[in-house]
Amino acid sequence: MDDNRIKLEDIGYSDFFKIKKESNSNDSLMPARIIAEHKGGYILRNEASEFSAKITGKMRFDSSSREDYPSVGDWVLINVTNEEQAVIREILPRQTILKRKLVGKSDAQIIASNIDIAFIVQSPDRDYSLNRFERYISLVKSGGIKPVIILNKTDLIDEAELERIINELKERFKDTDIYTVSAVSGKGILDLRKDIKKRLTYCFIGSSGVGKSSIINVLLGEDLIKTGEISAYADRGKHVTTHRQLFVLKEGGILIDSPGMREIGLVDSSAGVKNIFLEIYKLMENCKFSNCTHVHEPGCAVLAAIKSGDLSEEKYQNYLKLVKEDEYNTMSKFKKKEKDYKFGKHIKQVLKSKPKKYE
Ligand code: GDP
Ligand code: ZN
Repeated sequence: MDDNRIKLEDIGYSDFFKIKKESNSNDSLMPARIIAEHKGGYILRNEASEFSAKITGKMRFDSSSREDYPSVGDWVLINVTNEEQAVIREILPRQTILKRKLVGKSDAQIIASNIDIAFIVQSPDRDYSLNRFERYISLVKSGGIKPVIILNKTDLIDEAELERIINELKERFKDTDIYTVSAVSGKGILDLRKDIKKRLTYCFIGSSGVGKSSIINVLLGEDLIKTGEISAYADRGKHVTTHRQLFVLKEGGILIDSPGMREIGLVDSSAGVKNIFLEIYKLMENCKFSNCTHVHEPGCAVLAAIKSGDLSEEKYQNYLKLVKEDEYNTMSKFKKKEKDYKFGKHIKQVLKSKPKKYE
């Protein structure tokens, strides 16, 4: 056991959870927060220590969906078994949930719980777009989380361009805080750091390569993201190491960076995406060529439908965008369901052909 005692408040135990805990009739249960999830179970933290933990058989039995299982960031009630192990009896009600809905599935996938503020990161050298911010913002808000915009890699653009982007962002996202930073030069990082509040929980989301890890590492002041290994007990007391997914910043502020966080696809956040794909997929079956990419080919039923007005240009463009944005990953399940082999091949072709017309 480490003697690194902490206050539960410093890892996010707010009045919201205290009240929930107090209303629980079983006084012998102790509150703890889930700081990592791995195949064999969970890692928890309380005032005194870190524990490997499993859920009870009853909890498993009572679970009807993924949401009934704990996730990183959850406050749970536990029984401590020994110095290193505990049993999770209950999940305290969640204040916020970051989740993605899997296309073609009724179940939502919880990525993390009880995040107060989500930093949505984009950089001008990647797939910068206002619409992308928009969709991330709605995904975050739908879980009760406050979105904050970060434009990273400002060292790559000149003052005029930066000013243009800032104005554009302010105009479009009037109620959202905006930070412009450079994880490389350090510009703007202090302003960001200053506004990160003790006892609140944060996460960073955004496409791969925009600099999330770089910003996090600057904030943590060391390479914790890479070295944050913790040991745990998996099945039958076997020792395993896993990565910490919840960090406490030196000057306060709690950060969740779980693997799922990096896979948040935007497909899931826009309702009706499944329908867009289904509608276009049905049309594809009537294309003249089996390897049609539906971008320029003669005899393309998709293009014909746009021409005749049966398929809206807007839907088609959305579709192309989604395919290009590499966010069709969650489609794979849907794909299998629809016996869709052709569809996967088609996506690969569209990705290769990169239709300039619709950039
Ligand atoms: P992540 O996938 O969002 O976590 O992105 P990373 O933090 O791994 O960064 C992706 C690449 O962008 C790396 O090569 C970083 O060195 C680089 N990078 C990150 N932040 C900045 C920045 O502010 N300016 C510049 N020029 N490069 C950056
Ligand atoms: Zn076609």
